[in-house]
Amino acid sequence: MDAALPERVSVVPVRTPTLPPATHTNTWILGAGDLVVVDPASPWDDERARLYAELRARLDRGQRVRSLFLTHHHHDHVSGALDLRERLRADGHEVPILAHPLTADLLRRTLPVDVLVQDGETVLDGVVAVHTPGHAPGHLCLVGDGWVVAGDMVAGVGTIVIDPAEGDLQDYLDSLQRLRDLGPELLLPAHGPSLPGADVVLGMYQAHRHQRTVQIGDALERLGAATALEVAPLVYPELDPALYPLAATQITSHLLFLERHGRARREGERWHRA
Ligand SMILES: [Zn+2]
Repeated sequence: MDAALPERVSVVPVRTPTLPPATHTNTWILGAGDLVVVDPASPWDDERARLYAELRARLDRGQRVRSLFLTHHHHDHVSGALDLRERLRADGHEVPILAHPLTADLLRRTLPVDVLVQDGETVLDGVVAVHTPGHAPGHLCLVGDGWVVAGDMVAGVGTIVIDPAEGDLQDYLDSLQRLRDLGPELLLPAHGPSLPGADVVLGMYQAHRHQRTVQIGDALERLGAATALEVAPLVYPELDPALYPLAATQITSHLLFLERHGRARREGERWHRA
């Protein structure tokens, strides 16, 4: 998929039931001798077997899987983790599943996380976890030498959803800035090709969100009072109306952001310009 990945970084894109137009999740394999497998994601046996065949080839060369690392709790990132742990166990390798405590909490009914990873912890020689909430509360990126495994902070294909049920636009913007401040060159997203020019890309993501916030504020101004769903056609005129409910969740994140900054207020389901 990628012409040039950094040293000690490889990827197995696995087919997943993810948000269209994306069709796959990138399972990143970090390391040379000791390996960390990030987001073993597929719920489907053929894809899980394909990922394991890749890892088996490495085990046969004397490499060792040290951990399975989850960037966040979404099903299109975690669905192959237990299966992969079982496959490794059957071959005599006991490998823990790692995630942020907030991710572990959200997964507690379905997937036991073995080791909790906090912001700033090293998960592999030269690879540090960075807490980047916004898309998901327990979202972690992995920062290496000039690169970041970015999870769902950015996307090589499709868009990032900030669902107010579990996400937060202010947190997301802060996390984008945090990644920018770390100064990576290359972003390795969970969906689609890797993204060089990280600073420009992250800046574009920030600018896009600020632009949407302005558009949504302007739409409220025009409508007087409106629900998020009523704002959708004004802000996303090109969108298939069947997707307005999904758009409305995005819009609500922006409305909550406006509210927090004193630029919108809510009465029941309806929003007004403040
Ligand atoms: Zn996600």
